[in-house]
Amino acid sequence: MGVDRQVRIGEKLLGVGLHPLVQTMYDEPIPHDGEALDALIRRIGSLNAMGCDIIRFSYPSSDDRIPFSYLCAKSPIPVVADIHFDHRLALEALEAGAHKIRINPGNVGARWKVDEILASAKDHGAAIRIGLNSGSLPKGNEEPAILMSNTALTYLDWFEQAGFTDTVVSLKASDETVTVEANRRFASQSGYPLHLGVTEAGSVVSSVVRSTWALGLLLSEGIGSTLRISITGPIETEVQAGVELLRTLGLRKRGIRIVSCPRCGRSTFDSQGFLASVEQDLLSIDKDLTVAIMGCQVNGPGEAKSADIAITGIGNAIFLYKGGKLERKVGAGEAKAALLEAVRNAE
Ligand code: SF4
Repeated sequence: MGVDRQVRIGEKLLGVGLHPLVQTMYDEPIPHDGEALDALIRRIGSLNAMGCDIIRFSYPSSDDRIPFSYLCAKSPIPVVADIHFDHRLALEALEAGAHKIRINPGNVGARWKVDEILASAKDHGAAIRIGLNSGSLPKGNEEPAILMSNTALTYLDWFEQAGFTDTVVSLKASDETVTVEANRRFASQSGYPLHLGVTEAGSVVSSVVRSTWALGLLLSEGIGSTLRISITGPIETEVQAGVELLRTLGLRKRGIRIVSCPRCGRSTFDSQGFLASVEQDLLSIDKDLTVAIMGCQVNGPGEAKSADIAITGIGNAIFLYKGGKLERKVGAGEAKAALLEAVRNAE
């Protein structure tokens, strides 16, 4: 087991003893026109409000240099450039202000090219993630989990020989068992921070189930400093899932914990539609509260007692509770505004 290390990424610090951070990766090419870039900055602001700590962008070409540099300067959270094959793109992204770059040294080519990246990252105070996926490893006879972990240790050795230690490692496989084994093995031999994820995990249900199983195990064992729940779907959902996982494990306090009814034949109020209309706003409120959205009088008043704020819909009437006490009754049309106001004003 190596020395436990903490690594700075922009204004964020990650590593042993610190709460894990949530990441996502922007799902489209970097826009090039000013209006779209400003819209993207606002979207990053919303992701940040939901609990996203770091955002990664694909950086496939020099054409992205100017807009990427704008993102690095304006983003409210640290920005990572994802680089493949061409080490000159890594140098360019670092020059443009990337707070971290993600590379697989194995696909950068000659070692002198990796050394140039390390020297530049050092000069710019940027971190590097060694990102290994089970699908892009050097040839070897070992089991994939062992090969992934050993390959990362070899690259870390290169990095240390060049005097570079601001390094994070990720070992991802689409097979969640391999992901768990590789990360456990690495963590038993190295103190460098790990970024966790099950890659190519599918749509919302399959990704959240696989990722929660794998990352939940690792985080419960104290392994993992950042995570991404990779979903074939909206990046807002990735962030929501990551924050929810950390909250469930007791590793994050801030944010709204939502309690809501399943679909149920007794409901006389459309709690599903109501939740869909209000969820994004609730998740962007930076308070540590439980909010219950209940569909009838069977469990509604009971759940309201254990929530900070609750609503129970009965037909077209909505009963709003604060601290378990009935506060007021409003019509269904006013329910969203009344709930958000109550949550925003809650102590
Ligand atoms: S509170 Fe009412 S609507 Fe909600 S799950 Fe229970 S019985 Fe169904």
